[in-house]
Amino acid sequence: MILIHVCCGPCLLYPLSWFKEKGIEVLGYFYNPNIHPYREFKVRVKALEQVETLKGIKIIWDKTYGLRFFVKETFMVCENPEKRCERCYVIRLRQTVKKALELKAEAFTTTLLYSIYQKHNLIKEIAEDLSHKYRIPFFYEDFRKGYKLGQEEAITLELYRQSYCGCIFSEEERYSKALIKELKRKNK
Ligand code: SF4
Repeated sequence: MILIHVCCGPCLLYPLSWFKEKGIEVLGYFYNPNIHPYREFKVRVKALEQVETLKGIKIIWDKTYGLRFFVKETFMVCENPEKRCERCYVIRLRQTVKKALELKAEAFTTTLLYSIYQKHNLIKEIAEDLSHKYRIPFFYEDFRKGYKLGQEEAITLELYRQSYCGCIFSEEERYSKALIKELKRKNK
């Protein structure tokens, strides 16, 4: 069995069908203290619960809302997306590795490898380092090739699809950019 860290429902769809096609057993693990604010966290949990029911995948849940922990861990580097995201990936993947070892999984992976918006190479690098350090295989696949398919399925299933990555910093970046764009449009 491979333990797959799951960032959200829509991002699980394509990797799940890929593993199913290959006949590889996967177990999901939801651990994302980076999702804020609270109502957004709840909505994303709900969307993944829908996928869990619809697809019959078993998920190990950590539904603790991690705002304070996450801000504490990233506070000093919150203005720098490179550093902030690196810490964010390490936090989530290290916890996934620990869970994988606890569950005696054969390997671990993450749905973060599906998103075209994530820092793919950095995620791969961090996962490989953790794999080496904790002596558990990292299952790598570039799931971005199925991005369109996964998104289409999410729309068909009427799943909630978020418009920003997760943390309050990314929410600000997303909407402040949108705001600037909107102001520019109005001033044309
Ligand atoms: S932008 Fe996304 S990956 Fe980066 S720190 Fe925020 S939640 Fe984590």
